[in-house]
Amino acid sequence: MKKVAVVGCGAYMDSGYGCPGEWRCLKAAALGEGKFDEPSQVIAFVKCECPGRTLLPNLGMAMKLAEFKPDKIYLSSCLVNAKPGCPYGTPEEFAALIQEKTGVEVVLGTHAYP
Ligand code: SF4
Repeated sequence: MKKVAVVGCGAYMDSGYGCPGEWRCLKAAALGEGKFDEPSQVIAFVKCECPGRTLLPNLGMAMKLAEFKPDKIYLSSCLVNAKPGCPYGTPEEFAALIQEKTGVEVVLGTHAYP
C-alpha cells in the first residue's frame, strides 16, 4: 500500500464549504478512488496557508517528524480546481516546486466527490 501526503488549500478549508479535511481526500485515499490508483495511507495532511510561503517548510517538517518519504504527494482537489483560482500560483507551479524540493511525484487532485 502506498504512503502518501496530501496538501489542502487552507483558504478553502477554513471557509467551511465542506472542507476536504473532513472526509473527501481521506475517503478517496482509503478506497483508492478519484486520483488514487490504489488504496493509500495518508501519513501527512498539510494545509497550505496564504500566500503559500510556509508550504514547503511545513511539508518538509511533516516528512521529517513523521519519519517518512511519501510515495506520492497529492494536491487536493479544492486546491487544484478552485474557482477563482489561487492568486499566488497555479497548481502546476506548486507541484513543480514541491517535486523539485522533495524529489517526490506530485499528483494534481485527489477526489471527484461533490
Ligand atoms: S496560497 Fe493559494 S493554495 Fe495556498 S492557501 Fe492560499 S489560496 Fe490556497
